[in-house]
Parts: sequence; C-alpha cells; structure tokens
Amino acid sequence: MPQPAKEVSRILPARKRIALVAHDGKKQELMEWASHWKETLIAHQLLGTGTTAARLSRTLGLEVEGLMSGPLGGDQQIGARITEQRLDLLIFFWDPFSPQPHDPDVKALLRLAALWNVPVACNPSSADFMMSSPWLGQDYEMQIPDANAWISSRSDNN
Ligand code: PGA
Repeated sequence: MPQPAKEVSRILPARKRIALVAHDGKKQELMEWASHWKETLIAHQLLGTGTTAARLSRTLGLEVEGLMSGPLGGDQQIGARITEQRLDLLIFFWDPFSPQPHDPDVKALLRLAALWNVPVACNPSSADFMMSSPWLGQDYEMQIPDANAWISSRSDNN
C-alpha cells in the first residue's frame, strides 16, 4: 500500500487546541479527570462533542466549544479539524464495553489521529501523562505526512 512520506514539520503551539470526548459510560470518569486538571485545562483552547462539551461547561465552568453530538457527527467534525491541522491534542475516553451506533465514526477519528500524528489519550492515566508533559505548555515540533508531495506523486502517475 503506498503511503505518504512523513516529512513535513508541524508545530503544535504552546496554547493547545484540545478536543475532549467521552462515551456515555465514560462521561463521569472524564468529568472527574477534568475537575482534577481544571487549572491546567483553562490555559488551553477546549472543544468537544456536544454532550461532553455541555457537561464540562455546566459542571466545571470551563469554556468549551461544543460541536455536534458524537452520534450525530461530532466525531467526524473533530476528524476534519485534525485533517486541517486545527487540532493539537485529543482526549477521547471511548467505552471498551459498549458498542456505539457511530462506531465507524470512532474508528475514522482514531485513524485520522494516528495518520496525522496527533497525540491521543484514551483513559485517565494516558491523559494524566499528556497533561504532565513538558511539551503541553510549549511549542512542539513534529513530523506529519507531506500531503502536497502525496497528491503530486499520484497526479503525475495517474
Ligand atoms: P457526546 O458524543 O459528547 O455528544 O455524547 C460523544 C461520542 O459519543 O462520541
């Protein structure tokens, strides 16, 4: 399978754009986690799927941009932000015990995060490590696929 070379630099800014998503069975866990990290999260730009964002705003008073609810397309909106390099970190407490009506969207979101080298935390301990990282509050340079080279190589050959 041909793959784009990962050779373009991208800088994640010091003030991160962080998406927060939790499936219903994991929402309480996310609320407790976010309450613990509230003072850290406040320094960043937060967004989330509709219900998760509303609960974070209501319960913790955090400013969180609410996208569409997950089952109605919110995961896909977050995936689009990743593709457009407009998201820096993804905290996604997905529920390993509950099949979701939008499982294809969940898979698509995780694929895009892997593809574009976006850091993902899927549970409280990985999210703790993310929040404790020295790079959280600093610019972070990373490598992402070279989309322009990928398109031109394919358009030359096809
Ligand atoms: P929700 O969506 O925050 O609207 O519940 C989360 C999800 O199920 O992906």
